[in-house]
Amino acid sequence: MDETELLKHIYARSEGSIGGHVLIGPGDDCALVRAGAMDVLLTTDQLVEGRHFASETPIEMIAHKAIARSISDIAAMGGMPSFALVAACLPENYAHANALFDAMHLSVQGFGCPLVGGDIASHAGPLVLTVTVMGAAHEQRGPVLRSGAEVGDDVWVTGKLGGSYASGRHLTFTPCLIEARALCDELGEYVHAMIDLSDGAGRDGGRVAMASGCAIELDEAALPMHQDVADWQHALGDGEDYELFFTTAPGVQINTLEATRIGRCVEGEGCWLIDRAGTRHDVSTLGWDHSG
Ligand SMILES: [Mg+2]
Repeated sequence: MDETELLKHIYARSEGSIGGHVLIGPGDDCALVRAGAMDVLLTTDQLVEGRHFASETPIEMIAHKAIARSISDIAAMGGMPSFALVAACLPENYAHANALFDAMHLSVQGFGCPLVGGDIASHAGPLVLTVTVMGAAHEQRGPVLRSGAEVGDDVWVTGKLGGSYASGRHLTFTPCLIEARALCDELGEYVHAMIDLSDGAGRDGGRVAMASGCAIELDEAALPMHQDVADWQHALGDGEDYELFFTTAPGVQINTLEATRIGRCVEGEGCWLIDRAGTRHDVSTLGWDHSG
């Protein structure tokens, strides 16, 4: 079973839990739950040695990536992080536990998001870090969901795409908290849908399209690509960009952050790339399948 199929199964099981204290359930970058009088964003992410980072990666970079990935999911909702929890499964006789937790403490401080608890276990396997972050949505805009895109919307991305793993950028990226906040401040309700690019703009764009009930078309000529990226297949498929991919009401201008308009929402389904010759390519399944 691939990750998409497994997630569909989990979402179907969870539908009954929506309502009451559960405002947004599984299927977005974060859940939104009501705890007493407060609405809280919740997200959790795993970092697995050998899968998400190579064994020889410096401890500080492993710590940063583990924290920043979950922080990026808070940014994807337009929110700000409040607290973090870390569960670590350490290889037996792991010698760097103190340094690892020191580095994670340092990393969360940089995001104004103190580490308030967690759990440690050990096993005869690779290092696995599970980081849970809670946060708050933008006060005026509220949470920006994947499902809010509308036919006619413009599609945008911050930063540049592709080559993250090969270049090492996946270890040093800065989650787009400031950009997401600026976007919600400036555009409010005109920001319709948002996701952070963990698995590639093709696959993640396909997720926005599916959640929103429309199709997304991206223009090859408009894609901002890193210098070390050769083609749109890498730009849309490499994954781990951790840039914001979002849609806005048609014709909106953005002044307070740097973003590139790369396409539009149209009738239909899936995420498509229109190449320079005008040929349409289905890119919904390009990108990283975490279960593979
Ligand atoms: Mg995400």
